Amino acid sequence: MSSDPLSTDLTAAFAAEATALDAGDPLAHHRDAFVGAETSLIYFDGNSLGRPPRATGERLARFVEDEWGGRLIRGWDESWMQLPFEIGDRIGAVALGAAAGQTVIGDSTTVLLYKLLRAALDERMAADPDRVEIVVGRDDFPTDRYLVEGIAAERGARVVWVEVDTSRGVEPALLRAVVGPHTAVVLLSHVSYRSGFLADGAELTRIAQDAGALVLWDLCHSAGSVPVELDTWGADLAVGCTYKYLNGGPGSPAFAYVAARHHDTLTQPVQGWMGAADVFSMGPDYRPATGMRRFLSGTPPILGMIAMQDTLDLLETAGIAAVREKSVALTEFALRVSDGILSPLDVRVASPRDAAERGGHVTLSHPAMRAVTARLWTQDVLPDYRDPGGLRIGLSPLSTSFAEVLTGLEAVAEALRAKA
Ligand SMILES: *Cc1c(COP(=O)(O)O)cnc(C)c1O
Repeated sequence: MSSDPLSTDLTAAFAAEATALDAGDPLAHHRDAFVGAETSLIYFDGNSLGRPPRATGERLARFVEDEWGGRLIRGWDESWMQLPFEIGDRIGAVALGAAAGQTVIGDSTTVLLYKLLRAALDERMAADPDRVEIVVGRDDFPTDRYLVEGIAAERGARVVWVEVDTSRGVEPALLRAVVGPHTAVVLLSHVSYRSGFLADGAELTRIAQDAGALVLWDLCHSAGSVPVELDTWGADLAVGCTYKYLNGGPGSPAFAYVAARHHDTLTQPVQGWMGAADVFSMGPDYRPATGMRRFLSGTPPILGMIAMQDTLDLLETAGIAAVREKSVALTEFALRVSDGILSPLDVRVASPRDAAERGGHVTLSHPAMRAVTARLWTQDVLPDYRDPGGLRIGLSPLSTSFAEVLTGLEAVAEALRAKA
């Protein structure tokens, strides 16, 4: 620790500020709803794997005893067949601005992105054989980029990259410059996994659609943290994770949104029995179901979609607007602390400064951050690391306190001073 009186004053001022912010935080009491909140562990990765709500252990045990153990195969008819649609509608209502009947829990994010990208590309190419381009951000999450390249190869389509500033993301002018009469589908991340850049959902949707393309939103780093208004944007398609801000647990299945106007025209490539018109007729040919069922393929992962319901309860109580308000306050505080105690150690902020352009995480850049992260993990301070030199601080509004932010960033400063 530094004995410099100026930095001691700064630390005391930040400590007082964190105490005041926690005292005035209307969502502070929700922190106690999470396993581990009572420990001194600092968690900066709620945007990667959310903490489990305490209620989840009991919910899972109850499911094993009463439903799986008690109802056995009757459970499918009694409730499980409907569960992907019921939970999908709840996510749509509390987090996505989506009216009922357009959101379903399905496979992993990767598989759902594949299915919807293929569905959209096939529909656009069939309508107009000149539409052979898939547009995606150069710095998008790897699975998104790899899928686009794979699908382009599979279908004889072309990839068009949006070149972005890696401390920002896809902006309107950049998208406008690359879409046109050849564009079939535009795949966009609402919140950039690296920089935390928050894209303009309504504007980018309009630019893609004005060019005659369909737009597919990746909402992995938005759902449960940043308000999303899919119906208001007029979005076509969306997919997102449930194990990040929705705390569904490691590998919990993703959600897919398809705007109602596309339900009769889009067909996805993984034609399994659960997406067929009459699941139990076991007929000779595949005919897609109506509505969102046609986007399913195999038996729904029921056990995997149990846990997320506790966070949907919390979100419903708190409201996504209040969650966003706290999210902004958390990232603003993290940036102030970083400017105060990390900038003098040559740390650079690699995220937007303007809260209106920032989601729920910030990336702090320094060549030593890989080593810093490794050291911090042994001290129960858990940020994430992203090349090159990015320490990613993910702040989950329902489970993170301002004091936790300060303590964690002080640990970062100490690790940097110790040359990690
Ligand atoms: C986390 C994340 C994924 C993960 O996909 P999985 O299939 O769940 O592994 C995909 N895209 C983005 C933008 C993500 O942040």
